[in-house]
Amino acid sequence: MLGMAHKVTLIPGDGIGPELADATRRVLDASGVEIEWEVVEAGEASIAEHGTPLPEVLLESIRRNGTALKGPITTPVGSGFRSVNVGLRQALNLYANLRPAKSIKGIPGRYQDIDLVVVRENTEDLYAGIEHMVGKDAAESIKIITRAASERIARFAFDYAVAHGRKKVTAVHKANIMKMSDGLFLKTCRDVSEAYVGRVEFEDRIVDNMCMQLVQKPELYDVLVLPNLYGDIVSDLVAGLIGGLGVAPGGNYGDGIAVFEAVHGSAPKYTGMNRANPTALIQSGVLMLRHLNEEAAADRVDEALRAAIGAGESTKDLGGNLGTREFADAIIARLG
Ligand code: NAD
Repeated sequence: MLGMAHKVTLIPGDGIGPELADATRRVLDASGVEIEWEVVEAGEASIAEHGTPLPEVLLESIRRNGTALKGPITTPVGSGFRSVNVGLRQALNLYANLRPAKSIKGIPGRYQDIDLVVVRENTEDLYAGIEHMVGKDAAESIKIITRAASERIARFAFDYAVAHGRKKVTAVHKANIMKMSDGLFLKTCRDVSEAYVGRVEFEDRIVDNMCMQLVQKPELYDVLVLPNLYGDIVSDLVAGLIGGLGVAPGGNYGDGIAVFEAVHGSAPKYTGMNRANPTALIQSGVLMLRHLNEEAAADRVDEALRAAIGAGESTKDLGGNLGTREFADAIIARLG
């Protein structure tokens, strides 16, 4: 193939991560796009080697390559390590988390025509991790919302909508109760929306009502923009609408850097069993190909994956009987 290979940092991750990363890498390589993979460990494998789950060599590699594909990483409970996933997003200032959810034919569910995009602010809110004990018997977590971060995420959501021909952005909040913090988020989204009048419609919803409406009338919504905590919760709800965690992809974007990863975690109980579904990581790879301006290859992988599942060739969680590797093979056969 002519042209330069794309350099991508590949983080296999923990639990089912290495199996999914291997399946995804084989599928993306079969798309014909030339990718030079730089494999760097994080999580448990890195603790053994570097004494930390988030080593500097990893951050250097991602900064150098600008693009990474990441398997899930276990957050060790009670060991003192903060979440590597949250740490990585903060260290690289990956301020926008994009989670598109589009139904795949052949996956049983209540709906067959979901097409939603969740844009989650990734750096602040209660996830800033500022909390402390107040005496022995009370704890306090501080919710940070700034105009700058709200403006940045709102622009990301509107620009995404424009670039992808989407019609509407809905800001999700609880500004009726948290008048200052969520109020600032809502006002900033509204201010940003003014630059898009005539191109993208804008509306807002209170988060609890939003959850009910997404379950009852998901067809009314298009692109959702949310502060960090609501974004985390609502994106899992939306993943549930298209068939669960095994099929929900994601991308984390900063300035000049993007890290693509599935919504799900490391599902330790399935480690090494060739059983986990690689769809979410492969679809994260599709988002990565689009980010690398490889639209045609992205479409081909997406279509091959949908065709395989549509033909009943899928993993056990979707009612099929293929292992992780065999499912990847079924997609690769269609990329032929
Ligand atoms: P999980 O997403 O790992 O698993 C929950 C359940 O969902 C699994 O037991 C399994 O039944 C199902 N599942 C998830 N992914 C699947 C797949 N690809 N194929 C088939 N079934 C799948 O959530 P958890 O058990 O709460 O978390 C396990 C670990 O992962 C924790 O340490 C958590 O902190 C971490 N985690 C990491 C990330 C990340 O790396 N971005 C995200 C979420 C959780």
